[in-house]
Amino acid sequence: MIPRRRIAFEWADLGDALRALAVSPALAAEQVGAFERAFAAAIGVPHAIVTASGRDALGLILDGLGFAPGDELVIPAYTLGELVPLIRARGIVAVPADIDPATFNVTADRVAARIGPRTRGIFVVHLLGAPCDIGAICAVADAHRLAVIEDCAHALGAQCEGRPVGSFGRAALFSLEATKAVATFGGGVLTTADDELAARIRARVADRPRREWPPVRKMLLKFAEEAVIRSPAYALLARWMFSDRVAGGFEKFYRRAHDRVRGNPAAFSAFQARLGLRKLARLAVRQQTLNARWEAMAAQLPARFERQQRGDHGKAAFYNFVARFDGDIGALRQAALRDGLDLGVGSEVMDDTAAMLGFDDCPGAARAFRQAVLLPLYPGLSERRFRRVVATLGRLAQEVK
Ligand SMILES: *Cc1c(COP(=O)(O)O)cnc(C)c1O
Repeated sequence: MIPRRRIAFEWADLGDALRALAVSPALAAEQVGAFERAFAAAIGVPHAIVTASGRDALGLILDGLGFAPGDELVIPAYTLGELVPLIRARGIVAVPADIDPATFNVTADRVAARIGPRTRGIFVVHLLGAPCDIGAICAVADAHRLAVIEDCAHALGAQCEGRPVGSFGRAALFSLEATKAVATFGGGVLTTADDELAARIRARVADRPRREWPPVRKMLLKFAEEAVIRSPAYALLARWMFSDRVAGGFEKFYRRAHDRVRGNPAAFSAFQARLGLRKLARLAVRQQTLNARWEAMAAQLPARFERQQRGDHGKAAFYNFVARFDGDIGALRQAALRDGLDLGVGSEVMDDTAAMLGFDDCPGAARAFRQAVLLPLYPGLSERRFRRVVATLGRLAQEVK
């Protein structure tokens, strides 16, 4: 079975964990500071602040910018659904802007069409590593005096107009979850060039307890999960977990288990800072290798699969490979499982937040949700398996209705 996702197991991660668990609080604070400075330099902004997760970073930004109940925030109609309850819990009214299904990103026009008298901000995502038209969106925001928040969870290393994404809006958030480009087993970063906003947020997070153990525990759980995925029993397990009857329930269970491990917001640990520094230093090489494989996959996609258009607004970062399939993705997924290929579909890729919010005027998002397929492409996918993915897709494209 070729899984749809894998995390890189590195012995050096264990070394970092062991060293960090013995570190003094003063040295831990210094290492976290070093990571923040390196991150700020990579994005080209004066402030980077580590957080408990990407979601935590978004909450801190919304509170720091003074969003109040009743304020409207324009959000992408196709993105991570779990961000919606976080926004609504603050009484903020989320208004979805439709996406272009070819790029999976919102456009300046569609954002502008959603601005009204109560709009306070625009939240955009550079989805799947492809920069959205952030320059044009910021121009729209400036004309209406709105704050732009960039979600760069998929796009660390991407550029727009020669500048790193995350440096355009009032603030940006990044995720350091296990599946993201710089993975520290949880954690996030927020960046901003606004000194006052940075000071307010720093004051909010200043007295969070620093705990070294939770991210280490999460790493061990992830490694255990990897061991299962690599075992021969996984093929059988996957066929059960991802069968039509079980899949939805399993996804919910998995996400809930994840949230449990996530726990309460704690300060970023020295272990995470060390990992983060190491992975940040290697990011450019990783991006280059994986972007080349992304292009190779895009070039070999069989008919009925449509690649994401992602060159329009700058340089994309690698996140994963999502295509659109013109056909029944449920049937495609089940047929792929029988052929030993695990594909992600529906909410496993991203969510139709417009539908979640009760809007029915975002056909781009509805179409993306219906057609998006996550294909296996990750560090460590062998050339032989890569060829098998391409060959299997070709066969399935002829078979599946
Ligand atoms: C991963 C992700 C986030 C942040 O996720 P956390 O798990 O909270 O770190 C935000 N937006 C998108 C689109 C994501 O995929």
